[in-house]
Amino acid sequence: MKVVEHIEKRREPLFSYEIVPPLRGSSVRDIVDIVEALAPLNPPWIDVTSHSSSTQYLESNDGTIKKRTFKKRPGTLGICGVIQNRFRIDTVAHLLCVGFSKEETEDALIELNFLGIENVLALRGDAPNIPKVVAAGRRANNYAVDLVAQIEGVNQGNFLDELGKGDPFDFCIGVAGYPEKHFEASCLQADIQSLKRKVDAGASYVVTQMFFENQKYFDFVKACRDAGIQVPIIPGLKVLRSPGQLNNLPRNFYIDLPPQLVEEVQSHPTHTLEIGKRWCQKQVQELLDFGVPAVHFYVLNDVQVVTDVVRGFQK
Ligand code: FAD
Repeated sequence: MKVVEHIEKRREPLFSYEIVPPLRGSSVRDIVDIVEALAPLNPPWIDVTSHSSSTQYLESNDGTIKKRTFKKRPGTLGICGVIQNRFRIDTVAHLLCVGFSKEETEDALIELNFLGIENVLALRGDAPNIPKVVAAGRRANNYAVDLVAQIEGVNQGNFLDELGKGDPFDFCIGVAGYPEKHFEASCLQADIQSLKRKVDAGASYVVTQMFFENQKYFDFVKACRDAGIQVPIIPGLKVLRSPGQLNNLPRNFYIDLPPQLVEEVQSHPTHTLEIGKRWCQKQVQELLDFGVPAVHFYVLNDVQVVTDVVRGFQK
C-alpha cells in the first residue's frame, strides 16, 4: 500500500521507521534481525536509505596505495524486496540523484515495480568525496525535483528515449523537507519554494529532517501551507543517545539542539540515553496532539531505543 493510503486510512497514530543497509560484506541476516525487532511495532512502512559510492585510498603491505571507489552500503532495492515480500511490510526505497544516471534510476524503478514496491523517497543526496563521472550518452538528475519528474514520467508511462512509451507505473513519491532550512539554501523561504517545486512535480508527501524543537516543525508546516504546499508533512525524529551527538548531529545534519536538552545532557552525561528517550517521548506526544499524519523515526539500526519510545504510545 502507498504511504498516502496508510495516512488516509489511519485509525491510530502511525509510526514509521528508517533503516540503513548493512556495510558491504555483512550478511542480510543483520537487516532481518532489525526488521524482526521492528515488526512487533506494526510499522505501516519502513524506509531503506540509499548510498552513493565514495572513494577510499587503501595502503597494501608493500606500501603501495590503491584507490578504490565503491558503495559502502549497497543493497537498498534487495532489502526493500526482503521486507516487502518476506515480512509483508510496505517499504519506501530511497533513490538518489548523486551517483546515479537517469538510466540507472529507470532500471531501479523497474526492479522496484517487479518487487511490488509502491513507494520511493526522491532525494538529491550529498556530493560524494569524488564525483561520479556520468558515462558518455547517459544523463543525470541534478536536483531532487528532476528525479521526481523522472519518476512521475514513468508513472505516466514515459520511459527514457530507447523505450519511449511503456506500461505506466504507480509510485507514491515522497521528498525531503527541512524545518531548519537545507544548509545550501540562501534562506528558508527559498528552500520552501524548492520544496513546492518538488510537490508540484509530483511528490505526494514530505518527510522532514530530524529536529529536536517541535516549534520549528510547527512554524515550518505553517510556512509550507502559506506557500501552497498541501501534502502531508511527516515529522522525522531521532533519539539522542550519547553526549558525542551534541556535536555530531548539528555538524552532520545542520540542525540546532535546544539549550535545555544540551544543558541536561552536559549536567548528567551518563544518563544521556534516558534524557534522550524522555525528550523524544515529549516531542511525540506534542506532535500527536498537533495532529501529525505520522511520526517517522531515524532508527539508524538502533532499534531498542526507538522501541522503548514507541511502546509508550501503543495499546
Ligand atoms: P534538493 O531538494 O534537490 O535540494 C538541495 C538544495 O538545492 C536545497 O538547498 C534546495 O533549496 C536547492 N535547490 C533545489 N532545487 C534547486 C534548483 N533548481 N536550483 C538551485 N537550487 C536548488 N541522503 C542520502 O545520501 N541517502 C538517503 O537515503 C537519504 N535519506 C534522507 C531522508 C530524509 C527524510 C532527509 C531529510 C534527507 C535524506 N538524505 C539522504 C540527505 C539528502 O540527500 C541531503 O540532505 C541532500 O543534501 C539534499 O537532498 P534533497 O533531496 O533535499 O535535495
